[in-house]
Amino acid sequence: MGFDMHVHTTASDGKLAPEEVVRLALDLGLEGLSITDHDTVNAINPALQIISQRRLRLELIPGIELNTEAGTNEVHILGYYLDHNNRSLLLKLQELKRARDERAYKIVARLEELGLPLDLERVKEHARGEVVGRPHIADAMIEKGYVSSREEAFEKYLDHGRPAYVSRYKFPPREAIELIKGCGGLAVLAHPGLIDDPALVAEVIAMGVDGLEVYYPQHSDVQTSYYLRLAEENGLLITGGSDFHGPNEGNKLGAVQIARSSITAMQKRLHSR
Ligand code: AMP
Ligand code: ZN
Ligand code: FE
Ligand code: FE
Repeated sequence: MGFDMHVHTTASDGKLAPEEVVRLALDLGLEGLSITDHDTVNAINPALQIISQRRLRLELIPGIELNTEAGTNEVHILGYYLDHNNRSLLLKLQELKRARDERAYKIVARLEELGLPLDLERVKEHARGEVVGRPHIADAMIEKGYVSSREEAFEKYLDHGRPAYVSRYKFPPREAIELIKGCGGLAVLAHPGLIDDPALVAEVIAMGVDGLEVYYPQHSDVQTSYYLRLAEENGLLITGGSDFHGPNEGNKLGAVQIARSSITAMQKRLHSR
C-alpha cells in the first residue's frame, strides 16, 4: 500500500476530524498520508500526537493546500514537509482566515438578496470555528433545504460566475510558493488538470514549484500522461492524492496513492537544497 498525499479534515472543509482520518487511513492499510487542509495546519499537531501516543504505524507528512487566484483561475498550491509551527506561516494563515470570515459574510449577504437567507452563525458552526469555506455555506444551504448537495450549491450559486460568487482575498500563487518554501516545504501545483490551461500551468511551473500533482481522481488518462511528461521534462516531483473530504463527499480516502519511492524522491529534493 502507499501514500495518499491530499486529504482534508474538519480543520478546513473535510467532514472527519484529524483522529478519524488517522483511524480510517489505518483501517485502509495506508502506509502514510499528508493532511493538506485549505489555508490551515491546525490538524497536523493533533494527528501527529495521536500517532505518537498510540504508537500507530502510519507516516504523517505535514501539509497544506493554499487556495490562490491567478486572474479568474483558482490555483491551489500544496505544501509538504513545511515547518507547521513556523511563526510567519501562522501569521499569514491568520490573515487568510480573517479574509475568509469576511468573504463568508459577503456571500451570506448576497444569498439573502437572492431570497435565500442563512444564519452566519450556523455557517460558522458548520466550520466548527476553524477555517470557513464555501462548502460550509453549502452545508448551511443544504440544512435549509435550498439545495441537496455541496455540488449543487456550487453549480447554482457559489462557483465563479454564479450569482452568489464573491471574489477572494488577493493571494497570488507566487506568494504561496514563496511562503511554503520559506518555511522549509516543497511546493506542488495541485490538480493541474482542473486548471486545464497549458499557459497558466507553465507560468506556475516558472514560479518555482517543486512538483506536480500528476495523479488525481478527476484527471483523465490523457491528462495524467501529459502532466507526467511535463513533470519529467521540467525535473519536477510527481505526487498524487485523493482530495478526500469525507466518506460521502466524492473521492474516497486512498483512491489515489503514490509509492514510497516518490516520498523518498521528495525527501531527497529537500535535502539537496
Ligand atoms: P473556498 O475555499 O471557500 O474558495 O471553497 C473552495 C473549495 O470548495 C474547494 O477547494 C473544494 O474543496 C470545494 N469545492 C469546489 N468546487 C466544489 C464543488 N463543485 N462541489 C463541492 N465542493 C467544491
Ligand atoms: Zn476542500
Ligand atoms: Fe484543491
Ligand atoms: Fe483539496
